[in-house]
Amino acid sequence: MTEPRFVIPSDVTKWLEKVSAGDLGSGNVIASGEQAFEVFDPGTASRLATLPVSSQKSVELAVSTARKSFESGSWRNASPDDREKVLLALAALVERDFDFLSHLEALDTGKPLAEAMLDIHEVATVIRYYAGWANKVSGQTIASPKNLLAMTIRGPVGVCAAITPWNYPLPILMYKLAPALAFGNSFVAKPSELAPLSAIYFVGLCAEAGVPEGVVNLVLGAGQTGSDLVSSQGLDKIAFTGSSQTGQAIMAAAAKTTTKVTLELGGKSPQLVFASCDIDKAVAGVAMGIWTNAGQVCVAGSRLIVEGSIKDEFLDRLKKAGEDYVVGHSLDPLSAMGPIISAAQLDKITASLDSATKDGAAVHSLGKSSDLPGHFLNPTIVEGLTSSHSMHQEEIFGPVITVSSFETESEAVGLANSTRYGLAAGIWTGKAGQVQRVAREIDAGTVWANTYGAFHPTLPFGGTKSSGFGRELGESAVDGYTELKTIVEDISDEEGN
Ligand code: ADP
Repeated sequence: MTEPRFVIPSDVTKWLEKVSAGDLGSGNVIASGEQAFEVFDPGTASRLATLPVSSQKSVELAVSTARKSFESGSWRNASPDDREKVLLALAALVERDFDFLSHLEALDTGKPLAEAMLDIHEVATVIRYYAGWANKVSGQTIASPKNLLAMTIRGPVGVCAAITPWNYPLPILMYKLAPALAFGNSFVAKPSELAPLSAIYFVGLCAEAGVPEGVVNLVLGAGQTGSDLVSSQGLDKIAFTGSSQTGQAIMAAAAKTTTKVTLELGGKSPQLVFASCDIDKAVAGVAMGIWTNAGQVCVAGSRLIVEGSIKDEFLDRLKKAGEDYVVGHSLDPLSAMGPIISAAQLDKITASLDSATKDGAAVHSLGKSSDLPGHFLNPTIVEGLTSSHSMHQEEIFGPVITVSSFETESEAVGLANSTRYGLAAGIWTGKAGQVQRVAREIDAGTVWANTYGAFHPTLPFGGTKSSGFGRELGESAVDGYTELKTIVEDISDEEGN
């Protein structure tokens, strides 16, 4: 084994020691401490921190704390300008602690530091975007008979819960928390047990920015804590991002309490490459679309669907792009791709690859491997399976792309739509009109054309089919985190005029 080419910054090490000693900072983290769980650096498989699990009682305490804060009006009734001010202060604190948060997120998720920096930058951008919404949300006056005044107003939903995954811990939390705060809601979040650290630090920043006591609460733990939270009677809304299976369990739990849900679930997103495309750009885009964050991305472009006439050339070039990847530790400046989040997840991916090989697939493992004891897997291309094979159908959540080819535009669309998912898609073409024709036919919440993975706080994001429902980001969050109320008033005088 070579010597690691990185050092964990001392402020991060000190903070990890502090949380492991039970000091979870100034934010409202509600965990009982009776049971504990460990958080690991997936790049070295070494322990980063030991944290308390929130028991069912602590989950109920978190929900009732959020409820009390909502009813007190401390945040709900703060003026929209004041909420904007606090959110802008919060974004500034994220930027003040940018290096710390980026290192913490990189270590916890395993992603290269440069990717973690983009995540933290996105967090500040999302908060700032929704800060601006706080005093811009409005209702309508509605055409009515002369004696009536009819209007709609928008108020907060109430107590909102978020259950989030480990692949983009803080950005995905922010898609939910930032609009919830902008519109005056109170909040309980449960980050993934695999990467909860940035959320713990972040709730401390909420307190520092001036979010009143009890408005933002965090509970810690795995599926049981999540299940306790979504089964609580005290929630008005649940926003979930994660696997389709867990999404279904959450929807079933929410049905029992008639609680609103939005679900952003898995994907098996196609990358449609037409012969007319700019091939250099398309190869770079397809490589980035599957190998960013080691493919552990809900919108990973995990199915290459390429026009037959350029298939061989495109694949040769994609393999070359894969060969250039250096796989390694998040803090190693040479790493272009980090590890898989856990040993269990790596085992699942390698089992799918083994079964694909047994079924006759050619599995190409590319790039330069790491010799650290983390859960590493190289960029991988799988060829030679029919499009009904589970490798083409099921989300792998790793750096693995399948290949199929087409001859006509309608065949390409048919292949794109041949899974149960509908989260995102990429189209690479040089032909005018083809983007619009194909994009309209594809089952996906987002279609990128001649680019891939472009996110911005202004752009609504979410899925169709088994990828879930509801949209986050952009103006869609106004519907997600406000309740529309219709008020109708008789304005006639005593004579009835
Ligand atoms: P992933 O594969 O992204 O980890 P999961 O759906 O397993 O997807 O996890 C996403 C989030 O859902 C995590 O915070 C996890 O702890 C939580 N979770 C897992 N099982 C349940 C459940 N039954 N109810 C509520 N939350 C759950």
